[in-house]
Amino acid sequence: MKTITVLRGDGIGPEITEAVLRILHALKLPLTFEVFDAGMNAFANCGELIPQAVHDSIKKNRVVLKAPITTPIGKGFRSVNVQLRQRYDLYANIRPAHSLPKIKTPFCDVDIVIFRENTEDLYTGEEIVISDDEVHAIKKITRHASERIIRAAFDYACAKGRHKVTCVHKANILKKSDGLFLSCFQEIAQAYPMIESEDLIVDNACMQLVMDPHRFDVMVMPNLYGDLLSDLTSGLIGGLGVLPSANIGNDYAIFEAVHGSAPDIAGQNCANPLALLLASCFMLEHIGYPKEAKRITDAIDKVLQEEKVRTKDLGGTATTTQFADAILACL
Ligand code: NAD
Repeated sequence: MKTITVLRGDGIGPEITEAVLRILHALKLPLTFEVFDAGMNAFANCGELIPQAVHDSIKKNRVVLKAPITTPIGKGFRSVNVQLRQRYDLYANIRPAHSLPKIKTPFCDVDIVIFRENTEDLYTGEEIVISDDEVHAIKKITRHASERIIRAAFDYACAKGRHKVTCVHKANILKKSDGLFLSCFQEIAQAYPMIESEDLIVDNACMQLVMDPHRFDVMVMPNLYGDLLSDLTSGLIGGLGVLPSANIGNDYAIFEAVHGSAPDIAGQNCANPLALLLASCFMLEHIGYPKEAKRITDAIDKVLQEEKVRTKDLGGTATTTQFADAILACL
């Protein structure tokens, strides 16, 4: 029996978590789930954003399914998401954007996997207030963190039969920091002669992604560009409601949706649970249940193909619960 730590999160988090857990329970696998609040909900209940019981559970189980957690903008506490990624050294943030059946977007057959460095860059949260009118933010790039995410991207490309890895950077301006990331990429690429490698400046990469996404395969980049470009790739396949994400380290893994807590639609039972559901499939593969993950992705494809049940963000009228019911009916 394997136990998974589940964090219900904020905003739409509890609604989409419930939908996904219903589907996972229906697989009747030898899995149990330890479900916790984390973030604003936990703070309201017990005065802590990440209660000690959550850390104890993560340390014991090492695999987490996590719903989005709210971070106050421009003030307040540091992102719980970033804290978890740094504390558990989840250095590889993998965000696969695959086109889904019958979802109307400008492009079909998009198939891009972004590898986002997950522990440093501007996300160290170090901001130095020089005066009331001047603030400096630290962008930290290290050889260690750059090399391991770049190797992870090339290893993934080899393992999955992919043909190209694109490095995204701004080394024309940030010559030392992004320059270090780029030089690590160029060195490591030589060890993978079977995989084509290229590098692009981030502004050019954005333009090319929306003009011709098919020219991209696996992409690797520092933290901030990965955050921005993965929201962009979600837009290529139907929006934030459909893009899953895995945060992987050597000892721990957290699976989540790319999207946030969507406070604008929270509590309305209209959020799309698909991104978290696809993240749970990623999790099932990670813990050794690839066939069961495929059962769920086949059910998702079938429900979308039929064009009857889809949530509002995908042009439908189904509630979160009705979408989960449709997946359950297929299973
Ligand atoms: P968001 O992703 O929550 O929402 C952006 C837009 O997409 C909104 O219009 C929202 O309604 C829509 N949307 C998002 N997910 C959806 C879904 N599953 N179904 C249907 N529509 C969906 O981004 P935001 O509003 O910028 O951020 C809200 C909060 O989430 C912030 O506090 C932010 O810090 C946090 N956040 C958390 C994570 C995480 O936990 N990993 C990631 C991103 C943002």
